[in-house]
Amino acid sequence: MENIREKLAELQGKFAEIYGVSLEASVFAPGRVNLIGEHTDYNGGFVLPCALSYGTFALGRKRADRKLRMYSDNVTRLGIMEGSLDDLKAYENDHFTGYVKGVIWAAEEAGFVCDTGMDILIWGDVPNGSGLSSSAALEVAIGLLIKTMFSFDTMTQPQIALLSQKAENEFMGMQCGIMDQFISAMGKEGHALLLNTGTLTYKHIPLELEDAEIVIVNSCVKHSLVGSAYNDRRNECEKALALIRQAMQDGVLALPASGKLPEGLCELTAEEFEAAAGVLKDEILCARAKHAVYENDRTIRAAEALSHGNTALFGKLMRESHASLRDLYEVSCEEMDILTDIANAKEYVLGARMTGGGFGGCSVNLIKAGYGKQFRKEVGEAYTAKTGKKPLFYACVPGEGARVVEPQA
Ligand code: ADP
Ligand code: MG
Repeated sequence: MENIREKLAELQGKFAEIYGVSLEASVFAPGRVNLIGEHTDYNGGFVLPCALSYGTFALGRKRADRKLRMYSDNVTRLGIMEGSLDDLKAYENDHFTGYVKGVIWAAEEAGFVCDTGMDILIWGDVPNGSGLSSSAALEVAIGLLIKTMFSFDTMTQPQIALLSQKAENEFMGMQCGIMDQFISAMGKEGHALLLNTGTLTYKHIPLELEDAEIVIVNSCVKHSLVGSAYNDRRNECEKALALIRQAMQDGVLALPASGKLPEGLCELTAEEFEAAAGVLKDEILCARAKHAVYENDRTIRAAEALSHGNTALFGKLMRESHASLRDLYEVSCEEMDILTDIANAKEYVLGARMTGGGFGGCSVNLIKAGYGKQFRKEVGEAYTAKTGKKPLFYACVPGEGARVVEPQA
């Protein structure tokens, strides 16, 4: 985002133009890039994302009736979409309004009841469906917007994240973990966030690298199977966990060091997993579980490396993460493998990996400081030569989490 205040002023004008009234509240929630810890967030593991400087605005005003009017300035052809507080259900033709209604519904389920309808305008600059979580940015923005408009003073930022995840899981049918919504709500400028998704405890880690920089590359590939394959992976992990738990209950396997049955695969250490692998029998389940356990271990080590400024180790772990996502978890795709292979072959690239759910979208690259221009040119040209696609490059400036942004008087 070039300038948040300037963009907000423009959207403020748009709101008045579309709805014929001025807005009452405006908020902003960022997208995110995950540095490492992929597909661990529904296995009770660690993740290490950072919030971005770009994201989604939500502007709103209460109505006298119970209507919901929703407009996206990114998808103007849809015009003003209508809904009602009395009909908070998902429909086939929902488009982005599903996320809006879903969050209002999830808030209501938690006792935060919106007592009037609303006019809402949204706009964002997170590319949709590219693994930078435009959906979470939208959900968290709506959560913060209703908190602000209806004075839900006890609604905390982590709670907004949880409501948003519930909306995505139960309203949109996407069984995502908590990472995307949590980092959008809880990001801190200049920092990455090490989050334990099993306990929701977290630590902000400074991301001011002296000798390296982070570049995001959009492969410009979108695969439609993201949602279903994502849910499949989640089911496979649940199956693997159930088998391991059963073997522990039956005394076939020893309990983990904690002495308790694991609630998620990532509670197992690598050694505990190796001892347990035999009970999984199925090769695919074994590969999926192995990814979760080892990726979690890599994430802990990467956070440690980051706090010591050890970018070489961080980069090595990123490469290992990509190989595991490609070979064991099978959520990469041909173009993404080409993109990361090109990057990883460069002497000035410390590490490159896919980021987000997979099957296309973006890669995250840790490169030696000062090589940004060369990286864009060389990786861009080679990727286009091999795939015929033109990649997009984004800077990664770790930004602040969701916040109220004051409109101009
Ligand atoms: P990702 O979260 O990786 O960007 P998703 O498929 O989870 O991809 O979410 C993308 C969807 O979110 C879009 O198809 C659209 O429905 C919705 N969305 C997000 N931001 C906006 C926006 N500013 N305007 C309209 N729809 C949006
Ligand atoms: Mg999403």
